Amino acid sequence: MKPKYFIGIDIGGTNIRIGLVDKKSTLLYFEMENTKKVLNNKPVENLSKFIKAYKDKNDTYSILGVVIGFPSTIDKSRKILLSTPNIPGLNQLDIVSRLEKLLKIPVFIDRDVNLLLQYDIYSNKFGNKGIVLGFYIGTGFGNAIQIDGKIVIGCNGSAGELGHIPIMNDQTPCQCGNLGCIEVYASGKRLNYLKEKYFSNTNLSEMFIHHRDNPMIREYIQHLAIPIAIEINILDPHYIILGGGILQMKGFPRHILEGYIFEHVRKPYPAENLKYYYSHEGQTNGVIGAGLYGFKKLEEGTCDSIRK
Ligand SMILES: [Zn+2]
Repeated sequence: MKPKYFIGIDIGGTNIRIGLVDKKSTLLYFEMENTKKVLNNKPVENLSKFIKAYKDKNDTYSILGVVIGFPSTIDKSRKILLSTPNIPGLNQLDIVSRLEKLLKIPVFIDRDVNLLLQYDIYSNKFGNKGIVLGFYIGTGFGNAIQIDGKIVIGCNGSAGELGHIPIMNDQTPCQCGNLGCIEVYASGKRLNYLKEKYFSNTNLSEMFIHHRDNPMIREYIQHLAIPIAIEINILDPHYIILGGGILQMKGFPRHILEGYIFEHVRKPYPAENLKYYYSHEGQTNGVIGAGLYGFKKLEEGTCDSIRK
């Protein structure tokens, strides 16, 4: 039988990544393009053109649908982008219906971190049992939760906003509109702020090589540990995945972060039985995760239009 593929897409603030993915996570024809260049001023029409051009180029392949990861909050039906702080024009947008109309194939969307988690679960062979927590620290603080094979999306679709847990008595404004969110202190944005203010001669990518023992950087790593320890205490997970650009920087002291997490988690358990898995660095993880998620939806029977 001819192999079938999903078009997997990972949309970030800087780059859009796209590729064909089969059921066994094989990736074909991976491409990367500048997000601003692709979305421009008419994001839906331009995204549709971008996908169509890619699909037409690969029209000898059997394509089941498109799965797109957005750095956004998404409604419970997984059709509407509610808010996308880092990309203009992607707020309150009924994107799935509009793309399906333009492309004439099924379209699925989810939060980018949920699709990254699919990749990490697959590549680490965790299977579909147990509680898996993903912590992805990039520009913001991303979090994904999966329980017994199902992504936890919550009552309104907004579960996993761990970066926005409040810090007592803090009044610093967060990009989300609230005051005193932990993301203000536990994110790539914070590391960049520290670099600009105190380490202006150091490249951002070398912050942990040169300053990992500096008290301010130690405090920063301690801040990263807090939301992670909180969620571990709540859910006592089977698997913990740590990823994102900050943790993948050269010289990032994993054992220091793990030590701070250990300090804050309940003893004896889950503290004595923690095992961390680190995401492999790669531009293609979100695209492969998107494709795998398409096949998962197919198996769940949640995409009837494809099954017919
Ligand atoms: Zn916030």
